[in-house]
Amino acid sequence: MGKIQFQAESKRLLEMMINSIYSQKEVFLRELISNASDAIDKIYYKALTDENLIFNKEDYFIKIVPNKKDRTLRIIDTGIGMTREELETNLGIIAQSGSLAFKKENEIKDGHDIIGQFGVGFYAAFMVADVVTVISKALESDQAYKWESEGADGYTIVPSEKDEVGTEIILKIKENHDEESYDEYLDEYRLKAIIKKYSDFIRYPIKMDITGKRAIEGSENELEDYIEEQIINSMVPIWRKNKNELTEEDYTSFYHEKHYGFDQPLKHIHISADGTIRYNAILYIPENIPFDYYSKEFEKGLELYSNGVLIMNKCADLLPDYFSFVKGMVDSEDLSLNISREILQQDRQLQLIAKNINKKIKSELQSMLKNDREKYETFYQSFGRQLKFGVYNDFGTHKEVLQDLLMFYSSTEKKLVTLDDYVSRMPEDQKYIYYASGGSNERIAKLPQAELVAEKGYEILYFTDDIDEFAIKMLMKYKDKEFKSVSSADLGIDANENNQETEKEMNENKDLFDFMKKVLTEKVKDVRVSKRLRSHPVCLSSDGEVTIEMEKILNAMPD
Ligand code: ADP
Ligand code: MG
Repeated sequence: MGKIQFQAESKRLLEMMINSIYSQKEVFLRELISNASDAIDKIYYKALTDENLIFNKEDYFIKIVPNKKDRTLRIIDTGIGMTREELETNLGIIAQSGSLAFKKENEIKDGHDIIGQFGVGFYAAFMVADVVTVISKALESDQAYKWESEGADGYTIVPSEKDEVGTEIILKIKENHDEESYDEYLDEYRLKAIIKKYSDFIRYPIKMDITGKRAIEGSENELEDYIEEQIINSMVPIWRKNKNELTEEDYTSFYHEKHYGFDQPLKHIHISADGTIRYNAILYIPENIPFDYYSKEFEKGLELYSNGVLIMNKCADLLPDYFSFVKGMVDSEDLSLNISREILQQDRQLQLIAKNINKKIKSELQSMLKNDREKYETFYQSFGRQLKFGVYNDFGTHKEVLQDLLMFYSSTEKKLVTLDDYVSRMPEDQKYIYYASGGSNERIAKLPQAELVAEKGYEILYFTDDIDEFAIKMLMKYKDKEFKSVSSADLGIDANENNQETEKEMNENKDLFDFMKKVLTEKVKDVRVSKRLRSHPVCLSSDGEVTIEMEKILNAMPD
């Protein structure tokens, strides 16, 4: 049988990945072990929901077998296996979901964000192997198949022999090059260390035959080699561990292991709830915006486990939209395994967990704001916009949650400030929280409308994001202080605005004003004398709820 060509795009992606994505080659093992673990999860889940299938925990394991003589490394699992079709679709085409097209449009330089999100972890094997062979027998199938590939130029699939259900991956480890040595991936102690480092919490045993030395029986000091099968990993999932036992690195490597992101998480939140609802959760606030975050493809959600078994990859009900950037997982003993998507939404336990998580995220963000302002600003640069959308879309109580987390650039402080900062600095005679909208801080600073407010010495919040003013309109007030655009007709500052003096000036120049109004019919509602201008001859102001800036944004929106 001839080779089936990888799709052209796959080929390029594969080359790109092999050359640049992983900074360390050793992670190939983490990827293959995590796939093996997923495959056992799948068969376990099936057994729990199908009474014809029995899951005997002892029968499920992952085994790593290096062989220096023929330079192979085998990763064997007793998971669900793959049919011929599955070998083809799961291993044959990378990035089916159009990630490459996306990459082209958006010029992602190193492709960091693509891996994992679209499931190309398996290909990491080619970083250390010239040939990758996968022999697999699927559950409910009599025939095993062998998939084989030498990298970018394609693969073959042929029928094969295998007794047990599961998958065996055989890596033909590369020969050493001038600068690069691959021998370490055949060394049992090195492999043991890699497994410990990345896969310690995998919940199924990862076995290896380890060679030891022992005294030959009956002799004093003569040693002999012996081989002992060891379980390398501790098998306790990280979320069940005690917080004090875990280091920052443990959390970070779990974040990477799970492909939650390739950045360093800004913060992790480890919850062990033991009250009316029992659950464990590890949540992360990423540092960077996922590349698809503001696209339709982005799906929010947390991984959901029921007593250690993964039941859903992205449980959306666990996160409100305004915290959709949060990554992580939840495990609860109190959830039923047979639960379907529809039932899940109405599940009381789940709702309680969601509520609890929401509170926790908020309080963690607040404490970050209070105790590590710099970190919070990094967070806010990435996800502040989402919080503002949250305020804007509010029909309930989000506002309460979110208003204290908002920040805007301040005219007087020349940096981001919170509403609380602003209000606590307000002079007694200042009635409103002033803001000005515009394309950039520089442009806002030059607005004629802002002159009077600035001259009074009042602080002005600069709204440079389209959503800002809309969000503030929903908020209406903060600590009983209303928001006021510097371009609104009544600024609440100068009571002289409509007094006799201006009245007089208006009357004296009635013809001029009438003429201007006539020329600008349909464009303006009125033309008036104003006391607010200092160095500028004229400015626009607005009367109603919708300010000039908002009008611009609304007009720019597609119908
Ligand atoms: P991901 O794990 O993110 O889906 P991978 O590239 O690591 O992406 O794997 C691709 C797919 O191949 C998996 O989703 C799974 O369906 C299949 N697969 C890989 N390894 C195994 C295995 N050991 N047993 C069963 N299926 C596997
Ligand atoms: Mg994988």
